[in-house]
Amino acid sequence: MTHTHCPYCSLQCGMVLEGRRALEVQAWPEFPVNEGRLCRKGWTATGLRGHRERLTSPLVRDRDTGELRAVSWDEALDLVADRLSAIRDEHGADAVGVFGGGGLTNEKAYTLGKFARVVLGTSQVDYNGRWCMSSAASAANLAFGLDRGLPFPLADIEHTDVLVLVGSNLAETMPPAARHLDRLHENGGTVVVVDPRRTPTAERADLFVQPVPGTDLALALGVLHLLDAAGAVDEDYVAERTSGFAEVRGSLAAWWPERVERVTGVAAEQLRALCELLASADKVTVLTARGAEQHSTGTDTVLAWINVALALGMCGTPYAGYGCLTGQGNGQGGREHGQKADQLPGYRMIDDPQAREHVARVWGVEPGSLPGKGRSATELLDALGRPDGPRALLVLGSNPVVSAPNAHHVAERLAALDLLVVADVVMSETAARADVVLPVTQWAEETGTMTNLEGRVILREQAVEPPAGVRSDLELLAGLAERLGVRLESDPVAVFAELGRASAGGRADYAGIDHARIRAEHGVFWPCPAPDHPGTPRMFTDRFAHEDGRARFSVVEHRGADEQPDAAYPLHLTTGRVLAQYQSGAQTRRIAELADDGPFVELHPFLADRIGAHDGDPVVVTTRRGQLRAPARVVTTIRPDTLFVPFHWVGANLLTNDALDPTSRMPEFKACAAAVRT
Ligand code: SF4
Repeated sequence: MTHTHCPYCSLQCGMVLEGRRALEVQAWPEFPVNEGRLCRKGWTATGLRGHRERLTSPLVRDRDTGELRAVSWDEALDLVADRLSAIRDEHGADAVGVFGGGGLTNEKAYTLGKFARVVLGTSQVDYNGRWCMSSAASAANLAFGLDRGLPFPLADIEHTDVLVLVGSNLAETMPPAARHLDRLHENGGTVVVVDPRRTPTAERADLFVQPVPGTDLALALGVLHLLDAAGAVDEDYVAERTSGFAEVRGSLAAWWPERVERVTGVAAEQLRALCELLASADKVTVLTARGAEQHSTGTDTVLAWINVALALGMCGTPYAGYGCLTGQGNGQGGREHGQKADQLPGYRMIDDPQAREHVARVWGVEPGSLPGKGRSATELLDALGRPDGPRALLVLGSNPVVSAPNAHHVAERLAALDLLVVADVVMSETAARADVVLPVTQWAEETGTMTNLEGRVILREQAVEPPAGVRSDLELLAGLAERLGVRLESDPVAVFAELGRASAGGRADYAGIDHARIRAEHGVFWPCPAPDHPGTPRMFTDRFAHEDGRARFSVVEHRGADEQPDAAYPLHLTTGRVLAQYQSGAQTRRIAELADDGPFVELHPFLADRIGAHDGDPVVVTTRRGQLRAPARVVTTIRPDTLFVPFHWVGANLLTNDALDPTSRMPEFKACAAAVRT
């Protein structure tokens, strides 16, 4: 019997695995995050064990036939190391890129960043978490001086008075978390959901607000304007714990409810009702998720909602404040340990001389040898095969052919590479394009830590031996590093100890955490700078992380989505998730119990009537970047001017816009102009 955690989303539900061969998932009632509950994905998580599509041998593309053929690990690693060396020698270190994932363990994320900077010497490293919560991370760093998705345990929301969920569908994407909404209701609290679709989460709301996609920022400006006009701003809190409110107050004058209604489609009367709720509550919690964040205005949108929470005096106070519901399994830890283009371990910035010195000392290299800031994920993919871009790419834990915006373009750039190496469990759409495919262990076959959406560092324990022929990502990186003349650690316990030293004194400090402690305590919240430190479930209670201890208000302006509907593309398109699938679907689409769902196009009956479509009919969605043909789902729960497509299959991201947020470099997954026909 092994106590471990689900391989999928950021809740990282605790589960027990029974058996040595055919694993059986059982509940783990004592783990507080899910109290024994799992969603469909969790209950079926062992479905990839022994799956017929499981990769169990390295594959190399034959130059003559173009087919992938099985080779030994030594042959595959020798070939990759030789070709990386040759490309680096001819074109420079930045001609090799590394692309990671928000589902990789902390140990892997840390090692991947070190591999890129120390072994390859490249600045070209980033990961798919850039497409997950990066706007919320940028906003929290600006506002609070530190980004920990939820600066309090998720269960705290049960005790707030008004919970505002902006662009979160947690009842469908992480169902065990929905019990907190029920308990909040039992405690007399109120739930507000802001979403262009009336989702299963919105069905549980006391107030459902349905704005036009891409207008959450304007809605927040209108909310703060009305709160200020009503005298609901907590002036004492603002004076004692924040800076910059006067400038924000001065920027709100134009945001009367009638203007907000024109921009967002939210009735002025409903906006007033929302503000009355917020003004009369003692405790307000605002949580954002991808719906608010995955925009070219994502950082400013989150800042606008943080401004609301700060003005009400909520951040850093009990059972109130602002938080982000991170999506990927290690969306939080994945951004702390150095696989981001601009960061080193400990959530240190790569252009900070002290940070470089500290990390270089741990790594045993000269600070000056560490490369500087590289390209963000979308920009890195766009640069592939170009004269000044990477000519080789190593991909771990990611399937950008499905999950990247404007995916046709991504496929073109991958095809322009001299060398594409992909490590995965199955033949993902990205692996299928690779020159070398390396088969790696999956979650139950290895040990490693994850950091869930609350900043709780948890331990996934190995339950079974991996199949013959596969290696862990850590062994893969160590094997390549050895061939390139550098020794890297591959034991996860030792890697985590090194990660702790590299993070010590940084913004995300893990120095007091080790595997044994996590096992004993069922998780430890960072920052935890010493073994005798209790960890930090609740942050900002006395001071924020800026030097002066104050949170910062930010003046932000409504800009709207990068692409607005016009005569050719008269509708809004938004994308998202469904319960049975996780991310690009590479794992969950292969699990029989989850495979019944498929890509579909959600549209309102008014729109369906106009184009002559019935429920189940194939319809064609087009945008400036591509088209998708999929069955129609005719529902009254979506705005009549909006289409929705889930992104777990090839299709949705052929349509999406890769315009970027100027701060976070988040693409605009959630809003573009589209047309639909039968
Ligand atoms: Fe829990 Fe998320 Fe796994 Fe579902 S997918 S069981 S909500 S961790």
